Parts: sequence; structure tokens; C-alpha cells
Amino acid sequence: MRAQPKASHFVNGSYFEDDAGDAIDCIYAADGTVVARLYEATDAVTEAAISAAKAAGPAWAAMTGTERGRILRRASDMMRDLNQSLSETETLDTGKPLQETLVADATSGADALEYFGGLAGSITGEHIPLPGGDWAYTIREPLGVCVGIGAWNYPTQIACWKAAPALACGNTMVFKPSETTPLSALRVAEILKDAGLPDGVFNVVQGRGGVGAALIGDNRVAKVSLTGSVPTGKKVYAAAAAGMRHVTMELGGKSPLLVFADADLDKAVSGAILGNFYSSGQVCSNGTRVFVENNVRDDFVARLVRRLRDGVIMGDPMDEAVNFGPLVNEAQMGIVLDYIEKGKSEGAVLAYGGRRTDRNGFFVEPTVFTDVRDDMTIAQEEIFGPVLSVLDFATEEEALMRANATPFGLAAGVFTRDLTRAHRIAAGFEAGTCYINHYNAAPVEMPFGGSKLSGVGRENSKAAINHYSEAKTVYVGMGDVEAPF
Ligand code: NDP
Repeated sequence: MRAQPKASHFVNGSYFEDDAGDAIDCIYAADGTVVARLYEATDAVTEAAISAAKAAGPAWAAMTGTERGRILRRASDMMRDLNQSLSETETLDTGKPLQETLVADATSGADALEYFGGLAGSITGEHIPLPGGDWAYTIREPLGVCVGIGAWNYPTQIACWKAAPALACGNTMVFKPSETTPLSALRVAEILKDAGLPDGVFNVVQGRGGVGAALIGDNRVAKVSLTGSVPTGKKVYAAAAAGMRHVTMELGGKSPLLVFADADLDKAVSGAILGNFYSSGQVCSNGTRVFVENNVRDDFVARLVRRLRDGVIMGDPMDEAVNFGPLVNEAQMGIVLDYIEKGKSEGAVLAYGGRRTDRNGFFVEPTVFTDVRDDMTIAQEEIFGPVLSVLDFATEEEALMRANATPFGLAAGVFTRDLTRAHRIAAGFEAGTCYINHYNAAPVEMPFGGSKLSGVGRENSKAAINHYSEAKTVYVGMGDVEAPF
């Protein structure tokens, strides 16, 4: 098999196998072939992983941040050196084109390791002067064993976005990738080990939702960070609450992208393409509701359709000329095709695409609907596929009100040349991550995350440090201790 790893799990610094678990076949989405067979973690595997993470904690936390950071930065350099092969693994795992994975996955993971490796030495508390010469100080302490649970769209990136800040703060981690994409996180674990990470600090176990639930239910776990859908997020949050564990929830969305008549329309079309068709639309922050001011709507749609017709190259994702790949698996393809049928039956006008293409893999054409109304299913539910809905609007107030009329709040974007309007709209958006004249960039220096149903907490940036550490306060009495009697 093309991508068979040495074993299913990575526990306590080594590959680890237990074929008593149910088999997980990793299928290459471009042709439906099985590229690897792994086994779901048994209770013995999850126990070994959590025990290893717990045991490794004290020594890892006792190292200085600079020492921990040095290992993370070494791992970052190794990831960049191995980018080609890591990108090929990511492509086999997800079906995303190599053209994309070469620039967006291991590189983004390396950015996170480099950034948090650099920050690790400067994670400090505060000195707080108090009356009478007393004072207090705070210590930023690691939380302990963190569980990371990933979605299938960015398996390398998600593993690194969780591991890098967690490890920088002195935590240890057990990471469970999605069963659909089990390969990439194992490569991350191997690189961290080769960079000098002590055994047990980062562990990977495979499995379906039940394995994730078992990890969250373990009382040795201090924190859970999930990237996944809102329904899973609600379950994981509730399970974490039972043990009062810390959480970060990076969940789904139905984000708006507003295009005003004064915008640079070609740039706005580029934003809409990035926000709908990159990774074949399987991106949580996608701006799938594209509100276009009505007097430029036809022009916008014409330019968009021309760009898709002339620019999309579908085919074997391993061919670097290909820029549009399949959906991750057959089930996801079915979900997307059902939404396309719903769009048609509810009266939206299919302006482009809409069909499965004639290949063995799970390819669906980039699809554009116009004349979409706010109450249509395709305008309300997250599709997680290459389906863009164009809605038109007349005024700024109306556009903002309709943009916010969703229970989700992950991202939002606006294209306009009017500076004050751009900032007014950004201030009015009910979303965690907003874009002005751009869409979907997620550099590690910038906080990323959602509000409303789209999540809790922020990944990346200095903000992530607060989500992977907690303050211990120490009051220091310097004088007499006054007591009432
Ligand atoms: P799911 O919510 O189906 O799964 C997410 C992860 O949770 C998987 O590893 C899954 O395992 C696991 N899981 C499922 N049930 C449980 C449970 N009860 N307890 C613990 N773990 C569980 O999401 P998808 O993998 O389908 O990914 C797509 C979703 O992820 C979309 O909604 C997307 O918007 C969101 N997402 C959010 C991002 C963000 O940063 N905000 C980024 C990327 C994606 P398994 O799948 O193996 O069963």
C-alpha cells in the first residue's frame, strides 16, 4: 500500500501497534484505492498514551521555555526540509492537490512550531505591587495532559496548531486525528521525536469518535482542543464540562462575504474563490454566502464564472499542475451532491458546475448558485464542499444585518474601497475572524477562532498561550499580619 505507516499509533516515543482494534482503511480520494490500513485504538492503547503523557509531564514542564522552544524550532526546520514528502502524505491522506499541500500544510505546521518555539522562553507571569510593601506574583503554569482531536481537512496543520502552543507552555498531548485522515499526524510525531522531544510528550492514537470520547472522559486529562463540526463540538464540550476541563472549540461556520459596488471586483472574485474553492471547499472559515451589491451582481458572477471556466484544472492531485481536487471521501461527496440538489429544488439558479465529474474519485465541480434567498437550506447550513451561494443586497445596513443572521460566527469578509465603511462593517460583524479586502488567510501570528456556535477560544498568536496555561497567584506578605483578635 502506497502510504502504509510503520504502525497505527505513536505512543511514548515509538510507533505502536495493536491490531485488536477495528481496521481503519485510509482511502485516496482521487481514485478510491486503499493506501494504508490502520487499527483503531483499543483501551490498552489509549491507556498507554495517557499514561505516557502524564508521566512525561513533570520533566517537560520543568525544562525552561527556551529549552522546549529549541526542540520545537528544530522540528520546524525539519518539517520544512521534509516539505515535499510531508505534502505527498497530506495529499494521500486528504486528496487535496499537491500544488496546495506544498504551500499550506507542512509549511503552516512549521510556522506554528517556529512561532511557539520562539515564544516559549518568554512565557512569564506578572509582578503586582500591593499596599504596605506586600506584593503578588503570578506564574503561568501548564495545564497538564491535553487531548487534541482533529478534523480531516488539514490533518498536519491541525496537529501542529494544537501541539505547538500546548508543548511550548509545558503541557503534554495525546492527539487523535480524524479516522478519515490518519496518516499526517504520525509524521508530525516522528519529526518531533527526531528533533529531540522527550518520549511521551506528544502521542498519536487513531480512532473514531468513541476513542475521542474515551480520551475526554479520562480524569488525568486537563484540556481538550477540538477542531470539528458544531454537533461534535457540543458533545465534546459537554463531556469536558463533566470533568471541568479547559476547552478550545474550533467548529464550523456559514460565513458571509460582502462585495460592495465600489470594490475592486477582480480582487473580490479572488477572495470568493479562496473562500469557497480552495481545498475543494472543505475549509471551516469559508465565505459561502457571498452578498453582492445588486448593481454589480451580474458583472461579479460573469467574472467569477469566467475564472472558474478558464482556471480550474481538475485531475490527479499528485500532478502539480492540478489545482482542484476531490472531496475527502464518498460520504462527503454524497452530502455535497445532496445540498446541490436541495439548492436546485428550492429555486436557486445554478450558474456553474453542480455535477460529480466522470472519474473514479470523489470529484464534484466547483459550483455557483445565484438568486439564493436567506431562507434556503444552502444559505443556512454548512455544506463543507465547493458550493458558493450568491445573494444580492441593496444597502449596507441590510447586508450587515443579513450577514449576521446566522447562529454561526467563525469568519466574515468585506470587499470595498471605502475605508470607513470597511472598518464599520468589520466592527459590526458577529464573527471571530474578519477580513477586509482579503479572505481566508490564517497566519500563525494572528488569533483564529469563532464566536457564537462556531467555537470557544482562539488558536495561534499569543492568545493561544492563555488557552494552554493558567495563572497561579502567589501573595507575598512583607510586614505585620493584622488580625481582628
Ligand atoms: P466531526 O465533527 O465529524 O469530527 C471532528 C473530530 O471529532 C473527528 O476526529 C471525529 O472522529 C471526532 N469525534 C466525533 N465524535 C466525537 C465524540 N463524541 N467525542 C470525541 N470526538 C469525536 O468533523 P469533521 O472531521 O467532519 O470535519 C469537518 C468539520 O470541522 C466542519 O464542520 C468544519 O467546519 C470543522 N472545522 C473547523 C475548523 C476551525 O478551525 N474552526 C477547521 C477545520 C474544520 P471521527 O471523524 O474519526 O469519527
